[in-house]
Amino acid sequence: MTDTTPGFDTQAVHAGQAFDPTTGAVIPPVHFSTTYAQDGIGGLREGYEYGRSGNPTRTALETQLAALERGRHGLSFASGLAAEDALLRAVLRPGDEVLLGSDVYGGTYRLIARILGPWGVRLRVVDMSDLAAVASALSERPARIVWVETPSNPLLRITDIAGLARLGHDAGALVVVDNTFASPALQQPLALGADVVVHSTTKYLGGHSDVVGGALVLSDDEVYEQAKFLQFAAGAVSGPLDAWLTTRGVKTLGIRMQRHSENALAVASFLESHERVARVYYPGLPSHPGHELAARQMSAFGGIVSVALADAATARRFAESTKLFTLAESLGGVESLVNYPDAMTHASVRGTELAVPEEVVRLSVGIESVDDLVRDLDQTLTSL
Ligand SMILES: *Cc1c(COP(=O)(O)O)cnc(C)c1O
Repeated sequence: MTDTTPGFDTQAVHAGQAFDPTTGAVIPPVHFSTTYAQDGIGGLREGYEYGRSGNPTRTALETQLAALERGRHGLSFASGLAAEDALLRAVLRPGDEVLLGSDVYGGTYRLIARILGPWGVRLRVVDMSDLAAVASALSERPARIVWVETPSNPLLRITDIAGLARLGHDAGALVVVDNTFASPALQQPLALGADVVVHSTTKYLGGHSDVVGGALVLSDDEVYEQAKFLQFAAGAVSGPLDAWLTTRGVKTLGIRMQRHSENALAVASFLESHERVARVYYPGLPSHPGHELAARQMSAFGGIVSVALADAATARRFAESTKLFTLAESLGGVESLVNYPDAMTHASVRGTELAVPEEVVRLSVGIESVDDLVRDLDQTLTSL
């Protein structure tokens, strides 16, 4: 029998995006209404009642994201951290522990350590790319949640998702993958055994640096109902225009990720051959310790390249000297960005066990003409 499941790019364009049945508008309209007429008390059309509990534009995005991650349910939030917060509070109770990767987004660590910590949630940190270390941490003490980012931010460490899921499940934990860096175009954690995928849709899914958002995708009905209840009862929903912009971005995710990956590989190869560069972190390089694993669990290596220079001062100078790469936080947009993690995106983990080496600069490689990107980096390195 042939597999007739629509392909990724077909889903990206069509899932949740049926034309408007009343007007035929090919692009479904943005629904701004906060409230919905009832046909008699409690007579809801399509289940819509009030904008916080449900909105058709948000449903369209949630349907699209669930299809792309091959999960049963999607939930869209006002930001990536709002999505994380909803999931964590839906699942955790005082005394529960989260086992967190040692190289995750600083805001994730801050949320668990400083917001949930005072409510009794405990946190342990381990290098998730070392499954033996994970196994030993879990045998010491169980964890309610195992949380990983792969590729990780900003050092691009690769974790074996299938292996981690087995270890986590044997220990009774919920296995969560922050898939922001790879996006579902390159990696689908649920198919590898993870329970929940988390996204900052602000990055590659939105893709144009013009909308903040977050999402959860999962297939477990019970965890879904709990997280959905938190979305409704705590209220960090995405607004209709934000949801619509994200949906529009997602339609081109496949071709953007392809170009991001091609450009990043060219940039990484160039940097690796440059005498002023001490080390390049990119899973697409054969020299990367996670290269073979990444080649197995991802369909390409993504658009983020980190680079170590001689020392902190050189790294700072480099980050402040590029012309085409704009010095800014965030990542995943069509334009190239440079970021100095220690003082920018990862300032919240400075001095903690998650601190980023001071000589490291992170590049978000955009979809511009690659020769221009390489020339900008070449001129910057020469000027240092
Ligand atoms: C940006 C980011 C987040 C947080 O998302 P926001 O949309 O900024 O709240 C979480 N995880 C990763 C990997 C990120 O890059």
